[in-house]
Amino acid sequence: MGELRLFMENLSRKTGFSGELRFDEPMASHTTFKVGGPADCWVCPAPACFPEYAPALLAAAREAGTPVFVLGGGANLVVADRGIRGIVLDTGSWTGWDFTGEAKGPGDSTGSVTVRAGTPADELINALAERGRGGLEFLAGMPGTIGGMVWMNARCMERSVSDVLIETEILDEQAERVIVPYNHEDFSYKKSPFQGRKVLILGAKFRVFRREAEEIKKEAEILRIDRESRGHYRAPSAGSAFKNNRDFGKPAGKIIDELGLRGFSVGGAAVAPWHGNFIINTGNASAAGIRALVTAVTEKVRDRTGFTLEPEILFVGDWGGV
Ligand SMILES: Cc1cc2nc3c(=O)[nH]c(=O)nc-3n(C[C@H](O)[C@H](O)[C@H](O)COP(=O)(O)OP(=O)(O)OC[C@H]3O[C@@H](n4cnc5c(N)ncnc54)[C@H](O)[C@@H]3O)c2cc1C
Repeated sequence: MGELRLFMENLSRKTGFSGELRFDEPMASHTTFKVGGPADCWVCPAPACFPEYAPALLAAAREAGTPVFVLGGGANLVVADRGIRGIVLDTGSWTGWDFTGEAKGPGDSTGSVTVRAGTPADELINALAERGRGGLEFLAGMPGTIGGMVWMNARCMERSVSDVLIETEILDEQAERVIVPYNHEDFSYKKSPFQGRKVLILGAKFRVFRREAEEIKKEAEILRIDRESRGHYRAPSAGSAFKNNRDFGKPAGKIIDELGLRGFSVGGAAVAPWHGNFIINTGNASAAGIRALVTAVTEKVRDRTGFTLEPEILFVGDWGGV
């Protein structure tokens, strides 16, 4: 730990770091599930130094063999109770957008918006409405950042982020800035080419079209109210716990409902009594409890239907080899 402190202090000095930097930072306060032990080091660079600091951090950490975990809004994560070893780079301050191109008329998609990775979806949608640009309303009410949504290829209302993506700007494994043009073959249901790579998404460019502000606001509001009515925000969670596999012939939540598993709980984690595919923290859940519940639900579904559910929520951090 002493070495990591020294490493971070040297880097701060070299890069003229400004922002927040903490050691032994509880990850429970950075995840929507409200669980997760301490990160050895958590750093959130101020926007002014982000473009210089992020590549310097990634390059130095790579050379030192120190792992870096990139954090968006923490809305799809179960962080281990033992926390995260190494550095957590929080992208939350890296927000903002630029409009490019001119959307000429309703439905015309020649316009685009380039968005910094840390921008929350709702903030972006509000800005698009002010500018009279539609196309991303389907993300309304979804917790998390644009970077996390590109990484996850987030999906709602039968639309995925990849449906509107033009290109992604990343820092690659060598900490070099690279523009990755959208390629249809690289994306599929909840899959992006950035999964399994050690890259930082800096931002993304999306297709937008001209639309009346009032229409955008109305649609976004309807979607937010719909999420609220389905209990999305009623308890800490990370959204849908399991992926929807078309081969099952019905949504994962319906399968879980039909087996009477709503309310089924293990150590403070429960299948939401109001939604079969939501696993919630009822107040005192541990990450281990959530994982045990996911395993128990998966086994029950497999035993009784033959289907193997695949978790959508990500288990990250130091699980102690378990
Ligand atoms: C109430 C609720 C409802 C939800 N509804 C939906 C839904 O309808 N559809 C859906 O798809 N999801 C849904 N989710 C899940 C979540 O909103 C999405 O998965 C979202 O994309 C997570 O974004 P994030 O910024 O929080 O990513 P995080 O949870 O912080 O990270 C997820 C992964 O992305 C990586 N990552 C994040 N940012 C970057 C970056 N800049 N560069 C590189 N890697 C990065 C992380 O390392 C991690 O591996 C819901 C969650 C909640 C809590």
